[in-house]
Amino acid sequence: MKAVELYRSVPRYVTARTLSGRLPHLQSVAVGSAPLRMADRPGFPPPAREGWARVRPRLSGICGSDLATVTGRSSFYFSPLVSLPFTPGHEVVGDLLDDLGASADTAALPAGTRVVLAPVLGCAARGLEPCAGCASGERTRCDRVTLGHLSPGLQTGFCADTGGGWSTELLAHRSQLLPVPDSLPDERAVLVEPLACAVRAARRAQVEPGERVLVLGAGSVGLLTLVALRALVPGVDVTVVAKHRRQRERALAMGAASVLAPADLLGGVRRSAQAIRLSPERGEDYLLGGVDVTIECTGGGLGQALRTTRAGGRVVLSGLPTTTPDLTPLWFREITLVSAYAATPGDMGTALELAASAPLDGLVGATYPLERWRDALDHALGAGRLGTTKVVLSGREIR
Ligand SMILES: [Zn+2]
Repeated sequence: MKAVELYRSVPRYVTARTLSGRLPHLQSVAVGSAPLRMADRPGFPPPAREGWARVRPRLSGICGSDLATVTGRSSFYFSPLVSLPFTPGHEVVGDLLDDLGASADTAALPAGTRVVLAPVLGCAARGLEPCAGCASGERTRCDRVTLGHLSPGLQTGFCADTGGGWSTELLAHRSQLLPVPDSLPDERAVLVEPLACAVRAARRAQVEPGERVLVLGAGSVGLLTLVALRALVPGVDVTVVAKHRRQRERALAMGAASVLAPADLLGGVRRSAQAIRLSPERGEDYLLGGVDVTIECTGGGLGQALRTTRAGGRVVLSGLPTTTPDLTPLWFREITLVSAYAATPGDMGTALELAASAPLDGLVGATYPLERWRDALDHALGAGRLGTTKVVLSGREIR
């Protein structure tokens, strides 16, 4: 089997982190110095442990959190929650290589079934009695992601034992697998996991009818959040902040009520919400008044979100946050800060249904064979500028 692997190398990690921090325009150099390699090794033996099966990925997406990890921009908070070396890739559509029998809460899945992966490695996958989070159906809140018979790993794609999607083979637990209807093409199925995360964000936002929603960012997280909001909140009015021309066009085609350029964010929200714009002696302008709900989908927009959301409103952190802003407006405006991490099995089921009819055509903008993983990462780092929403890797060609 072939697998891209992130291995432990402090010097390489520090180099990648330094380069990506100091030279944000040279992210591809950071990828070049990241501790990543292509491993070629015997495949996994047929799993002996009940409920596990091998999966052969057809397509696996590159996510913003993967890019933050490989360029060393993610927080050291994650270090005890992963095990090295691991194969990245948690957005996966693939084929089951082993039969899975029925269990108390899942139907049998024969070998050859096309599946998508719900990547969180919760108590069921770890052979543990369910923790409070898992027992309530909120597997994203599992407290035991370092315990049980598996090495630490919050998700497939961050665990040394399971493999990940950027490969020709991985191991998955029955609790992580959803069968894909024949009618759903691979290019839509590979978006089910990121769409499920967007469904989670839309649910966590608890948007009421008539509320104005701002989505910061029009990369894959932002656009899929728009799709989820439009599907779950009938008639919702969503303004999307988009940096690049193709992103603006896509957001409008996918149902955004309006699109703002980042430079016009405050002005645009001020006009539509009849808010008051103030300029502090130092730092950036902000509004008194603003949108009801902001969903931050860029990783770096929490400060902007807090400065454009009305008093008593909500800000949802959807993208992995990479910055820490001034929290004064959070306090002064009594804004509720909510986060949305990953997706529950319920969110995955909703996303699988939505994926059949949602406006997802063209979102997978580039498919690279697995051997060209460096080119794929370069492309993904420049995706917005290049007019691409989602870059995926394919193991299909090298079987
Ligand atoms: Zn758990």
